[in-house]
Amino acid sequence: METILFLAHTEADGSLARAALEALAAAQAMAGSLGGLPLVVGLVGEDVRASAGVIAGCGAARFLGVSGPDFAQARYASNAAAAEALCRAAAATVVIAAGTSRWCRVLPGVAQRLGGRVDTHITGVSASEGSLSVARWYYRQRMEATLQRTQRPWIIVLDPGCHAPWTGETGTATVDAVAVDLPEACRRTTVTGVQAPPADQQTIRPDADLLFVAGAGWTKTQSDGKVHAPEAADLILEFLRRSQASLGGSKSLVDLKGEGQAILPFMTHLNQIGQTGSTPRHPKGLSTCCHGEEPHVVGWRFVNERRAVNLDPNCGWARGKTDVLYVADAFAVMRKVNALLGQK
Ligand SMILES: Cc1cc2nc3c(=O)[nH]c(=O)nc-3n(C[C@H](O)[C@H](O)[C@H](O)COP(=O)(O)OP(=O)(O)OC[C@H]3O[C@@H](n4cnc5c(N)ncnc54)[C@H](O)[C@@H]3O)c2cc1C
Repeated sequence: METILFLAHTEADGSLARAALEALAAAQAMAGSLGGLPLVVGLVGEDVRASAGVIAGCGAARFLGVSGPDFAQARYASNAAAAEALCRAAAATVVIAAGTSRWCRVLPGVAQRLGGRVDTHITGVSASEGSLSVARWYYRQRMEATLQRTQRPWIIVLDPGCHAPWTGETGTATVDAVAVDLPEACRRTTVTGVQAPPADQQTIRPDADLLFVAGAGWTKTQSDGKVHAPEAADLILEFLRRSQASLGGSKSLVDLKGEGQAILPFMTHLNQIGQTGSTPRHPKGLSTCCHGEEPHVVGWRFVNERRAVNLDPNCGWARGKTDVLYVADAFAVMRKVNALLGQK
């Protein structure tokens, strides 16, 4: 019989991130499908009591916690020691955790220490007739595989955005403290701060309902024989401000910066969507001035409703890669959209 451990770390403010609640819901569903197996919750953080209270109603048989100032920081050595201790204390055969940057760095090493196996970037878990399967995409989201493993413990790292988050009653949970004796060598690294752009300059918003993608066309010569990069920048920023959409870019556009051409100054390689970029998950996507080439569109694998604006009726989007293609001038379309949003 499997013992399923839901493993989570708290955020800096002691809360649980949405991704953790998604992994909890997946773990709970899995435990249910395997015949109502007891679920064990394992929490890591400076103080895990508040987080345990938030998920007190999840039906877990036990709550385990590794806490203290040593476990507040996203540091490999202490995170790995905490995760290993929780897996051992729970005698877990299956571990489910969210694919946060903190866990992604640590859990493969933890699997090694436990003599188990790990699968990262899992997009779904299912169980039928007592056996457990996970889904994972390969070759930059072109092929989906369903995997099973016999080796235990099996650590499953679930990509954020793949499962509805757990919701339920808060309460008070009794957390059994798991002691971790952290040697001095595991305390050498200290997180001294976080460098991030101010909130109003942050254009990557994973939780936004809409992904707005800009392609190189915004910086190309337009029908009047001129380039209109500053106007393009204004239109895009105004739209982002009004809609709170997340901003993506095609590789051609983000590369322009390095080539000394007309650019959108706020666009970086972190915005790039596609084969060599990211594969974001948003309910809707709107692509503008982007041709819809396969290496770009493969990054749209998990965007549910896709629309594109392109002057060229023969662009890549027209070949079945979008639900709606507007054959139109994106400058004119976005000017009008911004005006309509402004009236709201
Ligand atoms: C191995 C490999 C990996 C790659 N990985 C990626 C990746 O991860 N992500 C990625 O994006 N690309 C990737 N590429 C590049 C990709 O193949 C395309 O070259 C790139 O995405 C094209 O970018 P674009 O559509 O912005 O530019 P372009 O191909 O230059 O297209 C610009 C489009 O803008 C349109 N346009 C111009 N003006 C207007 C206007 N006023 N209104 C509306 N439309 C207008 C034009 O009709 C044109 O279709 C990869 C390529 C290779 C070989």
